[in-house]
Amino acid sequence: MKAALFVSPNVIEVKHDLPEPEFKEGILVKVKTTGFCATDVKTIKGLKKSNRPLPAAFGHEFSGVVVKTTINKYKEGDRVSVSPFCGCGHCVFCLGGEEQLCKSKTFFSGGSTSDYVAVNPMLANKAGFVMPADVTWEEGAMTEPLACVLLSLRSTGFKPGESVLVLGAGFMGMLHVLLAKSWGASRVMVSEPSKFRRETAVKFGADVLDPTTGVDVGEWARSLCGEGPNIIIAAAGTKPVADSAFKAAGLGTRIHLFGGMPTGTMIDVSADDIHYKRITLLGTSGFRSVDVQTAADMIKGHSIDLKPLVTHRFSVEEAQAAFEMAQQENALKVMMENADF
Ligand SMILES: [Zn+2]
Ligand SMILES: [Zn+2]
Repeated sequence: MKAALFVSPNVIEVKHDLPEPEFKEGILVKVKTTGFCATDVKTIKGLKKSNRPLPAAFGHEFSGVVVKTTINKYKEGDRVSVSPFCGCGHCVFCLGGEEQLCKSKTFFSGGSTSDYVAVNPMLANKAGFVMPADVTWEEGAMTEPLACVLLSLRSTGFKPGESVLVLGAGFMGMLHVLLAKSWGASRVMVSEPSKFRRETAVKFGADVLDPTTGVDVGEWARSLCGEGPNIIIAAAGTKPVADSAFKAAGLGTRIHLFGGMPTGTMIDVSADDIHYKRITLLGTSGFRSVDVQTAADMIKGHSIDLKPLVTHRFSVEEAQAAFEMAQQENALKVMMENADF
């Protein structure tokens, strides 16, 4: 089979003579569409350790067709989306509703820049769904990032009518905008230096600020929403963004550090602010199976429109060009299509 392989920092190669993954039980999926994730970008740039020995296929946001199955939930020919992992189901974290913290997660084989991936029965049952004909391959491939944002916003205790400030409107920041809007936020505010991203956020109904103009983000937000904002999402994983989240916090604000930061990043937190302003600090990464199922329901129910988030399309053969594009500020989600589908 063919696969785009991460070979060494910043280098991707496409190989055509690779063995298909070993399939025993669960489902074997022929991959149609794979999203380029910021985590893939970080890993390929060499900023994050690869989970697998190199060269290795990458990609974990995908949709495709079931070509073999041993489980009842799927039949051959089903169009499916499967998220990349699930918890063991029986540890304290899984039982306590914090499946994303499970230390015995199970993953699918390889990466979705391959023609085929093998999905074990537990993962196929918990983190996969059959896509109806009116759900596009690309929407299916965005289920996992939506699940991550569902866990993020759920963990803040978001309630309809609350105000949300998103710092950094890349793809994941923009997904927070869409989700907060669809859940009835009173106001969604975005601080983002890129003009393209600000203009896109405006189309999704957000109020926007260019933080490079020197305007104080917190004062700007409070001029729009009174005390608060209720929730601040630090969607970009940098120390300056985390610092500005604390600066922008008002009375009772819940700050969510969503963007993963380089290992060892330290932030300064004012103990006074935590105590007197009752600021709450949160973080999540990943998702739970319940978030995947909610994401699937939202996509199937067309209660959120993810399609405008796809800005660029490449074939898997063009993975290197897709990688370069995914680092550009005018890219939100870059998709790779399997051309010989
Ligand atoms: Zn991802
Ligand atoms: Zn577990």
